[in-house]
Amino acid sequence: MTGRFAPSPSGRMHMGNLWSCLLAWLAARSVGGGMVLRLEDLDPDRCRQEYCDQIMRDLEWLGLDWDGAPVYQSQRTELYRQAFQKLEQQGLIYPCFCTRAERLAASAPHRSDGTAVYDGRCRSLSPEAREALSQTRRPAWRVQVPERSITFRDLLCGEYIEDLSRDCGDFILRRSDGIFAYQLAVVVDDADMGVTQVVRGSDLLSSTPRQIWLQDQLGLPHPEHGHLPLLLAPDGRRLAKRDRDLELGQLQTQYPAPELVGQLAYAACLIDRPEAVSPQELIPLFSWEKLPKRDLIWAL
Ligand SMILES: [Zn+2]
Repeated sequence: MTGRFAPSPSGRMHMGNLWSCLLAWLAARSVGGGMVLRLEDLDPDRCRQEYCDQIMRDLEWLGLDWDGAPVYQSQRTELYRQAFQKLEQQGLIYPCFCTRAERLAASAPHRSDGTAVYDGRCRSLSPEAREALSQTRRPAWRVQVPERSITFRDLLCGEYIEDLSRDCGDFILRRSDGIFAYQLAVVVDDADMGVTQVVRGSDLLSSTPRQIWLQDQLGLPHPEHGHLPLLLAPDGRRLAKRDRDLELGQLQTQYPAPELVGQLAYAACLIDRPEAVSPQELIPLFSWEKLPKRDLIWAL
């Protein structure tokens, strides 16, 4: 069994990231599993090396470790290109020339998370129309999904079903600026890194059917999934990187690591009181059955 940390280095970690990292680590280590680290730094506009370094220091500060060298997505473009080509050879990829405004006009909201479901209008463009459009626009590249339901059993959320064409639509695998999409990179990397268990926030639950389907098309194994309840700000918002007071840099000045870990472990129902504890001490206390199933309001 191998789990993974997969942070996006676009800023300092916040409590929501620590929550996911701690529980992913415990889920792996509690069964003697491995843990790998992947920095999801594909977007050069948002990601920086200094954030990568900071994330590693922050994980170490908390007492979370990983096996082997960290993996940077920005260095693995060749692997993503090969997977993309494989899908292209299956006739599943087509160029989408829609502008952002056209894309939104051509979309209905995703059933479960409100993101846009593209109606596939560029799928049926003739070769001539594609040629003409490519004179003035650089296309994004979409993968054509089938009318098929994907079902999987989540370790926490239970059975989850999604009809790919209705609930999700053809999705982008490569942006018009050439950057490969998260969905493709994640699937390629999890297989390549030997990840067998994905533990992350439930905000990513609805992307899982897309990833499972991509794994099928690429002949890759399916890891098991555990989607954690989210930590919410006291006003019910999701925690975000803009919440400065919940960012680790600020928290470190107020709390020693074992106190923060204790707060998280208490919120996860692994201990009875919010007392100082190390991740190591929590290993024998972890079980999926104890974890809460609903989102939590986080207030220190
Ligand atoms: Zn389009």
